[in-house]
Amino acid sequence: MSESAAVLSGIHWPQPELDRMTGVRGDPDRLRGLCASGRVLVVDDSGSFAVSRHDGRVSLAGGPEVFESTSHLLVGRVQHQVWFARRGEVGPDAATLRDGELGPAERQVAEAAVALLGWHRGEPVCDRCHQPTQWVPGGGTRRCGSGHENFPRTDPAVIVAVTDERERLLLAHQVVWPAGRCSVLAGFVEAGESAEAAVLREIDEEVRLPVHSVRYLHSQPWPFPRSLMLAFAARGDGELSPDGHEIEWARWFTRDELHRELAARKLLLPGPASIAGRMIDLWQHGRL
Ligand SMILES: [Zn+2]
Repeated sequence: MSESAAVLSGIHWPQPELDRMTGVRGDPDRLRGLCASGRVLVVDDSGSFAVSRHDGRVSLAGGPEVFESTSHLLVGRVQHQVWFARRGEVGPDAATLRDGELGPAERQVAEAAVALLGWHRGEPVCDRCHQPTQWVPGGGTRRCGSGHENFPRTDPAVIVAVTDERERLLLAHQVVWPAGRCSVLAGFVEAGESAEAAVLREIDEEVRLPVHSVRYLHSQPWPFPRSLMLAFAARGDGELSPDGHEIEWARWFTRDELHRELAARKLLLPGPASIAGRMIDLWQHGRL
């Protein structure tokens, strides 16, 4: 294991556990059998999904169903359990990916289900000929009348923990956020741009800070509606000049300053389910 992987696994970054069973997609007989003996997660159009709660533990809810070739999505297998998903109404015992209550394996099922069902819900036209597309059994792709296969879309975004030579962390507050909320900087990768270039551009645009020593950390699917967050660490030193449009204020924090202001309830950080929350936690423990 490389040094960076060891550091990252030390804070329990989720490892891939979901077998997406891509070989089964497009095989209606096997899909029918697996759905009848598997479990079906119901996801509503806001991305909430059915869960059960026992003794403070939250787990995905859903039982076997009769396979419908145009609505049952094959998600894959985790911990010897095959999961499908479909759109539907969820009851009061629902959860979202923002909550962070699920264990890492079941979270991967929910991430894939929410992302893929969200893509289908938009009923995209064909990339090549712009005809309507139809759901392909298994739900991994869509196909148009001319037989062109269309694949799900993901929007890459970069999220960057910038520290200075004194190990202070750059946190910023967006204009649209409630007072006190702050996080590390983030932005979408533009078309034809590398993720590394997006890191430099976003930080320059948002706070006018040149950074260097850019280092990739990890990624997290964030299907609201279809982002893939690519987390980086970077170094920078100097004054911060927030752009005033997107970023209202930006500051360097020492660990003590952040701790004090959180204790005084002056600041609100992203939750532990988000990659931003994990990056800040990593820095707080001196492991970034
Ligand atoms: Zn087409």
